[in-house]
Amino acid sequence: MTGQEVIGRARSEGRSLLTEVEAKEVVKEAGISIVDAKLAASREEAVSVSQQVGFPVVLKIASADVVHKSDAGGVKLGLETAEQVGQAYDDIMAAISEAYPEAKIQGVSVQKMARPGVEVIVGMTKDAQFGPVLMFGLGGILVEILKDVSFRIVPLVKRDAAEMIREIKGYPLLEGYRGQEPVDVANLEELILKVSDFVDKHPEIKELDLNPIFAYGDDAVAVDVRVVLEDESQ
Ligand code: ADP
Ligand code: MG
Repeated sequence: MTGQEVIGRARSEGRSLLTEVEAKEVVKEAGISIVDAKLAASREEAVSVSQQVGFPVVLKIASADVVHKSDAGGVKLGLETAEQVGQAYDDIMAAISEAYPEAKIQGVSVQKMARPGVEVIVGMTKDAQFGPVLMFGLGGILVEILKDVSFRIVPLVKRDAAEMIREIKGYPLLEGYRGQEPVDVANLEELILKVSDFVDKHPEIKELDLNPIFAYGDDAVAVDVRVVLEDESQ
């Protein structure tokens, strides 16, 4: 299915939130690097897909009615065996039926456990005056509590991407600290420009979140993607 077909299907089902699997399909088409996520509709399928993907894997709830997957017990990391995957599937379904009894569930997404990196986030929201605006920040508490983020109006040029990364207070963390390898900042700049290009070409997207992206010495990949569509009338 192409990105446009994914969006069309969500709309025909009257949904504005894409699932993680769908959102990743859509941004992958734009050359944004993501950890591939495959939908498994049953416990058995979750196990067989995990075996194909290769352990360790991550299972996440796949439902357009669950926005924050881990808050609801819908994410299980570092699963090493078929048995752990089966158990994780049961635990996720139990947690979600408790937290969201009304949710329509597609199944779970199955993906490789990504190696640890520096967590960063890139987001797009629409400003009433400026239109699409990109946000960049370091993941976790730095964004949630300290609000250490930078913004630029879409479309960005290379210089904007370079500046918005360097102007956050946490930038030294990307340069390598306490023996950690420095992040490939040029790669992050490219990723930000791809996101800018992508949202510029897709006015039907209302909000986009790559949260988190794992940044490495040689690469950067989004492990979670959230896409919210505009109302159909837009
Ligand atoms: P949500 O934001 O909906 O709660 P995420 O998909 O972001 O769910 O998962 C929660 C956290 O789990 C992420 O912030 C990240 O730290 C970790 N995580 C998610 N996917 C992976 C993955 N493929 N590999 C390693 N860690 C992951
Ligand atoms: Mg997330």
